[in-house]
Amino acid sequence: VVNSSGGKDSQTALRAALAACASSGIEKSRIVVSHQCLGEMEWPGTFELARKQAELHGLEFLTSKRRDKDGNEPSLLEAVRARGKWPDSKNRYCTSDYKRGPGNRILVELSKRPSGHGPILNVFGFRAEESPARAKKSSFAFNERASSKSRPVWDWLPIHDWTEKQVWADIKESGIPYHRAYDLGMPRLSCVMCVFAPKAALMIAGLANPRLLDQYCQVEAEIGHTFQNKKPISEIRDALARGERADPKSMTGAWNM
Ligand code: SF4
Repeated sequence: VVNSSGGKDSQTALRAALAACASSGIEKSRIVVSHQCLGEMEWPGTFELARKQAELHGLEFLTSKRRDKDGNEPSLLEAVRARGKWPDSKNRYCTSDYKRGPGNRILVELSKRPSGHGPILNVFGFRAEESPARAKKSSFAFNERASSKSRPVWDWLPIHDWTEKQVWADIKESGIPYHRAYDLGMPRLSCVMCVFAPKAALMIAGLANPRLLDQYCQVEAEIGHTFQNKKPISEIRDALARGERADPKSMTGAWNM
């Protein structure tokens, strides 16, 4: 199961996993791409791109979304409004509720298929260079949380030690399309406005998605809790309104998480 946000690292991890499977004689029919859709919170076109990337490799594409116990699918912004707090590194419910949980639902569904018994190799495009937390991750580890007795799950990070330069070289070689947000200067995809993003990324994201930025500012004002510690998202909107623009070259790939 290759988890894909539709971003550059996911599409490269997918290529790496396909190459490893091909050299190990594992059929493509045993590989699926799993995308956790963030709806309006993700960059427009992300869902379609993740699906297209899977299709171009001839792979099955599965998708899931956060779903509450009543079967509703609230957006991340609705969840923030209901909680009255933005996620942060200690309360990272955005990842657990919107990515990990829905992703694990796919693993459960797959294990119910006639061909789905046995261990699952759960592939992610995490790279050490992205953040100190990701650098600490092991590139191959048993995933106790996602496992059951009949369904042991192993996480594999095939491009954990890759540099961003290597990733882009691989994408260029592959000819597989990537998201236009990177051409705007974004180092990462996923949520348009991430609580861990540096200011430059939020400026680029806000400039390209002004209506979503307004919604974030509105929720921030409603709940009275700042988007990032002592850094309101409204300051991004104010800076853009003053004509400030981010220099993509000033941004490293590292996120503050
Ligand atoms: S991109 Fe950022 S805000 Fe969105 S789920 Fe991931 S960590 Fe949370």
